[in-house]
Amino acid sequence: MNILELRNVTKRFPESQVPAVDDFSLDVEHGEIVALLGESGCGKTTILRMIAGFEVPSGGIIRINGEAVSGSGIFIEPQNRKVGIVFQDYALFPHKTVWENITFGLYRLSKPDATNKANDIIVLSGLQGLEQRYPHQLSGGQKQRVALARAMAPEPKLILFDEPFSNIDSMRKHQMREDIRDIIKKTGATAIFVTHDTRDVMTIADKVSVIRQGKLMQTDIPEKIYTYPANSYVADFFGKTNYIKAKISPEGYETPMGVIRTKTSLPASLKDVVLSIRPEEFTIKDESMGCFCGSIVKERFLGEYKELTCKVENSSGPDTEIVIYASPAVKCDGEKCYFKPNEGKINVLNDE
Ligand code: ADP
Ligand code: MG
Repeated sequence: MNILELRNVTKRFPESQVPAVDDFSLDVEHGEIVALLGESGCGKTTILRMIAGFEVPSGGIIRINGEAVSGSGIFIEPQNRKVGIVFQDYALFPHKTVWENITFGLYRLSKPDATNKANDIIVLSGLQGLEQRYPHQLSGGQKQRVALARAMAPEPKLILFDEPFSNIDSMRKHQMREDIRDIIKKTGATAIFVTHDTRDVMTIADKVSVIRQGKLMQTDIPEKIYTYPANSYVADFFGKTNYIKAKISPEGYETPMGVIRTKTSLPASLKDVVLSIRPEEFTIKDESMGCFCGSIVKERFLGEYKELTCKVENSSGPDTEIVIYASPAVKCDGEKCYFKPNEGKINVLNDE
């Protein structure tokens, strides 16, 4: 069963003409880590606040464990939703120690039970030895782990994180992401986190929803979203891609540089389409058989790979330029370059 369901959730703030969240739907399964990804102002925090119960939706319904918590005239108060939240600025109590911060939400338990639970979560979060410190005596990463431990100690059904890595310096970020994923997975908790950084998504999310101006663009596992973005907005958000105009024919995709033949049968479509093929989804070949032939107009070394810009001439229209990420070991003798897109990694966009 889904632990969380949002159905057609909308939020209009009184001062604003456009909804902050517009007809947004999401399913979250038990144990999943879901990312809400989008630019600043796209409505991510508002969605979290509606799930937690700090904001009342203008329309739609929110269910937690199958039970409506918002919508259809129902409103369950935040403290009765069993949802933990880690705020962007951590919101630790400055005059309480780490221990007091973590045990704060355990008032319903007996003293020995609360002590055991707090000790467990302190070990799990790697905070041993810091119990008596105050927040100002902690590093950013430690504060974040205290905020996480405090949110997790009462064992909420669902934990929400607002931009959890935005205050962590980039050197530490990678480790933090792994640590947080480990802690969440070890406890079997379900988590939703908000971010504008695709690297957060790739490292820790099982599933991601991309949001633009309050609207859902696409939900899928990160690998799928990366290779098969629904539209050019999502494609661009995750990095460089090649856009190629095409017509679908029995041969394959007819493009200005020639036909991309595929073994899989394509849906018949009379409409012109736009393909998106990631730069690493082209293979450079030594021979021309079944390949496109272009000339390299630019070559950049980028460490683990090199970026080649390959121009394919077209007698009846503008030339096509394809960006290819190749291994630095690949030799393209002089200017000629034979390449083909990887079967199965050709994506048709749904842009209007
Ligand atoms: P994000 O977290 O993705 O940056 P927010 O959810 O904070 O975006 O904001 C989405 C939109 O709603 C923005 O245009 C913001 O200005 C507006 N907004 C957020 N909270 C309020 C509020 N309390 N009153 C009015 N407008 C708000
Ligand atoms: Mg926000």
